[in-house]
Amino acid sequence: MNVWKAGLERLGLDVGPWLNAAKRAARAGAKDDAAIATSSGRSIPLGLLREHALRVAPGQRIAYVTDAAFTSANVDAVLSLAAGADHLFIEAPFADEDAAIAAERRHLTAAQAGDLARRAGVKRLTTFHYSPRYLATPDRLRCEAEAHFVAAVEA
Ligand SMILES: [Zn+2]
Repeated sequence: MNVWKAGLERLGLDVGPWLNAAKRAARAGAKDDAAIATSSGRSIPLGLLREHALRVAPGQRIAYVTDAAFTSANVDAVLSLAAGADHLFIEAPFADEDAAIAAERRHLTAAQAGDLARRAGVKRLTTFHYSPRYLATPDRLRCEAEAHFVAAVEA
């Protein structure tokens, strides 16, 4: 049973010893409407914690992103969705050079996909949903995304 901090934050909750009771209840198979007392004196239904902040280990967290325009709202959503994921599958339809086309079609560039993966701190990146215009250069988009994904590690 793992606690997912980004999920806790989204619920407006802090990490603390109260989580042990939540994990115990979840492990014991308590019902979703079971009330869990939090550190702030509030109480929250176990089901909400299960949905947003508790993960059963061992396991992997996979995030999947496609058909995403590069807007600040989408950037926030992707970073929140993919934060610390073991494996991010993300679209990389266009090369950086064609960023104007990507924006017009409301899709990401490979560079943006790689940057998002790096910023989200994912462990592994897989790109897909390539535009047919790069059929003659099959590795281009993957390489571009990977270059941006590892840039910070090598710096
Ligand atoms: Zn699409």
